[in-house]
Amino acid sequence: GAGEEVTTIDDLPVRDELRGKSPYGAPQLDVPVRLNTNENPYPLPEPLVERIAERVREAARDLNRYPDRDAVELRTELARYLTDTGGHEVTLANVWAANGSNEVIQQLLQTFGGPGRTAIGFEPSYSMHGLIARGTGTGWISGPRGDDFTIDVEAATKAIAENQPDVVFITTPNNPTGNAVSADTVLALYEAAQAAGPSMVVIDEAYVEFSHGDSLLPLLAGRPNLVVSRTMSKAFGAAGLRLGYLAADPAVVDAVQLVRLPYHLSAVTQATALAALEHTDTLLKYVEQLKRERDRLVSELRAIGYEVTDSDANFVQFGRFEGEGAAHAVWQRILDRGVLVRDNGVPGWLRVSAGTPEENDAFLDAVRELKKEQQ
Ligand code: PMP
Repeated sequence: GAGEEVTTIDDLPVRDELRGKSPYGAPQLDVPVRLNTNENPYPLPEPLVERIAERVREAARDLNRYPDRDAVELRTELARYLTDTGGHEVTLANVWAANGSNEVIQQLLQTFGGPGRTAIGFEPSYSMHGLIARGTGTGWISGPRGDDFTIDVEAATKAIAENQPDVVFITTPNNPTGNAVSADTVLALYEAAQAAGPSMVVIDEAYVEFSHGDSLLPLLAGRPNLVVSRTMSKAFGAAGLRLGYLAADPAVVDAVQLVRLPYHLSAVTQATALAALEHTDTLLKYVEQLKRERDRLVSELRAIGYEVTDSDANFVQFGRFEGEGAAHAVWQRILDRGVLVRDNGVPGWLRVSAGTPEENDAFLDAVRELKKEQQ
């Protein structure tokens, strides 16, 4: 009612660096076609749902006990998956798992960043790197990316030499732009980071299963300050599971255990992830389908007359919308047609996740109509 005082965040004694900030907020709107958060559009297959129920039922019988704190069985199976698909042998000792790769990234920043330290990313890139840096008291440095959204080695190594960051993030394939970073570029940045630091280099490979190229996992050999971060949220179609993991030198796995909360990965999560890993082959078939759909989105958008950034991910960045607020206006008009895409705040560009063929058709129909209206 009138005169009632509403308490806001800024009335609370929150940390100075959180004042006036907004939380991560992709809109969760109830519309027919949701292509905004790079989820896998395919529900888990029924035999896997059954297997999850079975494994969770078994786990439930032991829920009076804390879960396996070191998630040994799960990390062993993740290591097997990486070895089978990544072109590089890793074992239990090389792998660590947490609640989504967001938590992996948080643990890395708690371990290698923190107050008085800095991290750098090459933007536009995954905004949570900077947000998690802030949450862990790590200073954030926005490194450069070219107009074509590639990383210019000279500009990037200069930024590393000048700022001497403690943690370097390289997202490949990059979100939200979709393009991949070459192994040569990653190696040059790693060398620059060791000369300036030494510092940790984190390759965020959340989308690598959708790439035309290979994982950079083999670069781990002989590079103890390199980390590859992965997730089951995209290729495994299990965003709701919250399971991310990393591969690195065993010393890195030991180091993150200094900051992880005891029993951070619930027995239910571990059981569910293990069930999903039993169905890897089936799930990777959906990846093949999504790659074809991603390539179709790229070529059809170009045929309609949009500019499109090359994509190695399960999403596509398209534009270019000239003028202040133009991209957001187009986002709204696509939404008016029942299709939710993402406005990441990259001026002039929007991002669409690859959905089912029907969802992608709905999206393409919507943007085709918009293009016609403009002519
Ligand atoms: N890294 C990148 C580049 C991402 O785009 C995302 C999800 N949008 C994540 C990490 C985090 O994913 P999750 O926590 O679900 O593993």
